[in-house]
Amino acid sequence: MLKKLLFPTAKQHNTKPYLCRMKILDGKKASQAIKDELKIDVAQLSAEGKKIPHLAAILVGANGASETYIAAKVKACEEVGFISTLIRFEETISEAKLLAKIKELNNDPDVDGILVQLPLPKHISDEEVINSIDPDKDVDGFHPVNIGRLMQGLPTYIPATPYGIMLLLEHFKIETSGKHAVVIGRSNIVGRPMSVLLSSNTYPGNCTVTICHSKTKNLNDYCLQADIIIAALGKPEFVTADMVKEGAVVVDVGITRVEDSTRKSGFKLKGDVAFDEVAPKCSWITPVPGGVGPMTIAALMKNTYHSCITKN
Ligand code: NAD
Repeated sequence: MLKKLLFPTAKQHNTKPYLCRMKILDGKKASQAIKDELKIDVAQLSAEGKKIPHLAAILVGANGASETYIAAKVKACEEVGFISTLIRFEETISEAKLLAKIKELNNDPDVDGILVQLPLPKHISDEEVINSIDPDKDVDGFHPVNIGRLMQGLPTYIPATPYGIMLLLEHFKIETSGKHAVVIGRSNIVGRPMSVLLSSNTYPGNCTVTICHSKTKNLNDYCLQADIIIAALGKPEFVTADMVKEGAVVVDVGITRVEDSTRKSGFKLKGDVAFDEVAPKCSWITPVPGGVGPMTIAALMKNTYHSCITKN
């Protein structure tokens, strides 16, 4: 298990006050800074003859978006100097075979982190698969043991996307203490852990958090009261200017592929925020792409590094 807290306590940080003019929470820049630091740390491990972090990633089937995400994770491993193993299975693989592979990776002392790219085919239970990963190698932070530790404020593997958002807020020294954060979305991998992290007695953290979801009434009213909005619902351009208070910090988690025949790929990526109209009202805002996406990968790299140095 991790031995140190991943975020400083609220007393240990300095933050800048909100600025009036909109600024970009540039995830590419922040993630590069994290990867550059990790690269130095890995070089140090190597120089000392210590073990190099090893991430094993499993991809089932050939979903276009999953292929893109997994390729980006493998590339990030190369960039920071980790070893990575990509294990591919046909869409038709049985759950038993997949679980057997995870067991093998759990028992392999050379593997520090295991991730299974979601979504999985319908005949395989996400829950069974997540629960089968050794919590000490669960660098995606989805295992119930790690979620439980997060709830208790104990050192843990924080799910990569909310962890990436916390790192982004930290990188740009965004003031969070006492702010009202509205999280839209309550999924186990984004919205719910995000709400726990933002309400924790850490920096970033100490927000008063409202968590909204598909059954929330008067969502606009909550959003208009928000100093910080985390939009994680997966509905393109859902958050519009009339929902955002002047000076708010807006973090757009959404990534939806929207058809675009003018592009070679045939699609473009859209966030959950109508960027063009919302941005002028914000103090800070994430772009899509180039915001939360790269931070998720940087957070995964950090979790894998910590797994390695904790065990070895
Ligand atoms: P999900 O489908 O599991 O959860 C969506 C949540 O949004 C649900 O809790 C639901 O209650 C809520 N919701 C749906 N419609 C709503 C509405 N009209 N009003 C208020 N709440 C509503 O999705 P998820 O896995 O949490 O992902 C959310 C988005 O974030 C998706 O676009 C996904 O692709 C993206 N995502 C991005 C990254 C990244 O690295 N950038 C990582 C994970 C997910």
